[in-house]
Amino acid sequence: MKILSVNAGSSSLKFQMYEMPEEKVLISGVFERIGIDNSLYTIKINGEKIKKETVLTNHKDAVRILIKELLENKVIKSLDEIKGIGHRVVHGGDRYAKSTVITEDVIKTIDELSSLAPLHNPANLMGILAFKEEVPDAVSVAVFDTAFHQTMPKESYIYAVPYEWFTKYGVRRYGFHGISHDYLTRTLKKVLKNDKPNLITCHLGNGGSISAIKDGLCYDTSLGFSPNAGLVMGSRSGDIDSSIIPYIMSKTDKSLEEVMSDLSKKSGLLGVSGVSSDSRDVEDGINNNNERCILAQKLYINRVIEYIAKYYVELGHVDALCFAGGIGENSISTRKEILEGLACLGIKFDEKDNDFRGEFKLITKKDSSIPCYVIPTDEEVMIARDTYNLIEG
Ligand code: AMP
Repeated sequence: MKILSVNAGSSSLKFQMYEMPEEKVLISGVFERIGIDNSLYTIKINGEKIKKETVLTNHKDAVRILIKELLENKVIKSLDEIKGIGHRVVHGGDRYAKSTVITEDVIKTIDELSSLAPLHNPANLMGILAFKEEVPDAVSVAVFDTAFHQTMPKESYIYAVPYEWFTKYGVRRYGFHGISHDYLTRTLKKVLKNDKPNLITCHLGNGGSISAIKDGLCYDTSLGFSPNAGLVMGSRSGDIDSSIIPYIMSKTDKSLEEVMSDLSKKSGLLGVSGVSSDSRDVEDGINNNNERCILAQKLYINRVIEYIAKYYVELGHVDALCFAGGIGENSISTRKEILEGLACLGIKFDEKDNDFRGEFKLITKKDSSIPCYVIPTDEEVMIARDTYNLIEG
């Protein structure tokens, strides 16, 4: 059965087509700069990467070209071969604890939840509507980035603010990157042969989050009401004292919108290093003794360690820890510094075993108190799996 896994942003659309249940990737790619000038798309098929420039005025243009490419490349013979289309949807609020088949009601709810995710849900909806129009017979499924975290107990998701903010306006921790944390949890359940493990899953990419998994379910997570909480990220601040916001507004002539934009686009590794939001550039800076890069990396590592330590205590017992995401999978020095900082918990790692990028591997020694794995995360396959399972019932 052919299933498309889709991640639509405001000006981009990433896709991956699978043969399910084998989970074989048939074709993948990305449309970029939709609705702006110099639009282009890249497709990867049979190990070959093809880049083409084209006009993409909206998401529907991208979907039409995608269909044309699927037919021309003989990935499908006709449209009715596409049985399901799974869409990543950033915010499902407290309405969705699982992936769901998209009906008119679901579309309405995703739209209503746009007030919680004004940058993401409207973009996700554009993708959903474009595919509904161009491939009307396929089953559309929404896979939410928040759903996995819906098992958190109240003490993990309530903020210490006036309670009516929660009851009237939905102010609470929702958590994000749930599709990735779910993938990591399912993978570790298989590896450990334990259906109810206690885990700490670290998704360290340009955005980053850490989750505590208790008895196989999400118990706590570092992202919060918005995707700017918890860890120091590429260009996001993570946790800060909220009083900084009005203080900076009073000291500069910046509006609330500008200060909020600074906190998500000019902070994190970029803000502290002054060099880049990309951890590779920060690593280069460190190798050149750039003091601010050294400081940015220290803040980054300290915050990760803080969350792991907090979750270790919350969980009481941890069966495994894992790293994923661009940094978690590839940055040898970041993993090393985090694990060295956790030595007091009895975590022992092997420098030789840690010297690799981008594969599944155990990096701790046999006598380590907690085994630590590197797991290349795969959000696309999770979307395809949930879509397939909902179709197969
Ligand atoms: P993601 O958002 O998961 O794509 O992750 C992006 C982050 O991964 C960026 O900060 C990259 O610098 C980082 N990253 C990707 N490849 C490497 C690498 N080989 N070494 C260090 N960091 C990397």
